[in-house]
Amino acid sequence: MEAIRELIKESRKIVLKVGSNVLSDDKGVVNSENLKNLVDQTMEFIKMGKQVVIVSSGAGICGVGAINKWTRRDDISYKQALCAIGQVELMLGYKEAFMAHGVHVAQILLTREDFQDRYRTLNMRNALFTLVDEGVVPIVNENDSVCVEEIKIGDNDTLSALTANLWNADLLIVLSDIDGVYDKDPKKNGDANFIEEVWDIDGLLQEIDVFGKSDFGTGGILTKIEAARRVNEYGASMILLNGKKQNILKDAISGEAKGTVFFPR
Ligand code: GLU
Repeated sequence: MEAIRELIKESRKIVLKVGSNVLSDDKGVVNSENLKNLVDQTMEFIKMGKQVVIVSSGAGICGVGAINKWTRRDDISYKQALCAIGQVELMLGYKEAFMAHGVHVAQILLTREDFQDRYRTLNMRNALFTLVDEGVVPIVNENDSVCVEEIKIGDNDTLSALTANLWNADLLIVLSDIDGVYDKDPKKNGDANFIEEVWDIDGLLQEIDVFGKSDFGTGGILTKIEAARRVNEYGASMILLNGKKQNILKDAISGEAKGTVFFPR
């Protein structure tokens, strides 16, 4: 789609949100080839002179992959423990993949409270700006191990939008396991229509059935649409793309990718 190509071309500061589904295989295990492919594609942006901040999920599923137990534990302390274990694995994966290109990564773990406190917000901004200016790729996730359900941001769609606004990004790219927004669930309705461009989110919500939720991630289509609303309010655009497709970012750069673009009004 030409609109996607144009948007990427004119954006300098890009936040890339990577869902757990994008990194994992069908069994929910993180696949290092997927991660490497994603990092190689991110390097294309960097080579084009763009600045990139990644918001990545995957701590939970990496924790399960690393320790191979506790998947059925519902207690919050075990979920927190899995994320604490998995966050290390996740960062190791990113570190190795970016190091192959001679690029350093940095881990930033944030909570809802951080975004509510002016002083912390300022510090986070400074850290993000400094890292990016120095050519380091910050990798942001929620600090799952210190958050219980009630005080969580809860999904990284929202976290990526908050991060994009904090860093004054021009563009948020959300990589998920769907091509974009349809008016109905395309898996169940052969006549579902794909929506390429959105200019009015309230209008969109009246038009579509909000369906489905991804298997391994936390958010669904609604959290993605609300993420778009957040960045649109700050004048930035959002593109929703299918990160399970090999080379989706390269295709986006060349205008060959299918996706939904949310434009600020
Ligand atoms: N922060 C969670 C993790 O890294 C994921 C949240 C989400 O799926 O949006 O496991």
